[in-house]
Amino acid sequence: MPTRAEQIAANLAAVRQRIARACEAAGRDPAEVTLIVVTKTYPAEDVRVLAGLGVREVAENRDQDAAPKAEACADLPLSWHFVGQLQTNKARSVVRYADHVHSVDRLRLVTALSTAATAAGKRLGCLVQVALDAGSGERGERGGVAPDAVGPLADAIAAADGLRLDGVMTVAPLAGAYAGQPRAAFDRLTEISSRLRETHPAANMVSAGMSQDLDEAVAAGATHVRVGTAVLGVRPGLR
Ligand SMILES: *Cc1c(COP(=O)(O)O)cnc(C)c1O
Repeated sequence: MPTRAEQIAANLAAVRQRIARACEAAGRDPAEVTLIVVTKTYPAEDVRVLAGLGVREVAENRDQDAAPKAEACADLPLSWHFVGQLQTNKARSVVRYADHVHSVDRLRLVTALSTAATAAGKRLGCLVQVALDAGSGERGERGGVAPDAVGPLADAIAAADGLRLDGVMTVAPLAGAYAGQPRAAFDRLTEISSRLRETHPAANMVSAGMSQDLDEAVAAGATHVRVGTAVLGVRPGLR
């Protein structure tokens, strides 16, 4: 039986190779794609193993789990990304450990994060979460704003004290026109990103792709892939 550390090392190597292959197929430099390992539901010991294997970017989706884990790993050279739906009353906690929030999807959250980051004397990187299956004026079932709301929300982030507009994020929709079409979904996100960079040239992060569809995301131009299961294993329960 391989040890947990050996298992993680083997999975990580396989994921890195998948990214490298997808880059090669797309004619992209692998240095353009950052792997963020999603550590939700897994313990701090696994995060420690990841750090030992050279992982520098990790992500969580629930503040209750993330805050103690980040604290237990405070001695490690890690950057924490928050990728889940976020309530405004958790903003202050998240700002304490996170360098990036990928799931900014409403003005009230921008205000809460801005207040928290300013109070903490921090500059927080923010990505607008895009719900590609949401119609105009709607929100996505798993968070996110409709494509036509990205511009105004991005402007609000860019203008907010303590925040930095870093780019856009999406999760491939399970329903609607993009269901089962991750490549088309990620191409659409890339278009939205290009549009955004006309007015905010530094907002160049494109966060897309998970264990199932990271190859399509890399092909479409993602700069950051968020991978959990393929590195750490299938999570118990549905999350
Ligand atoms: C859990 C999660 C991931 C990782 O998903 P896997 O299928 O485990 O790779 C990526 N992004 C978000 C927003 C998540 O919640």
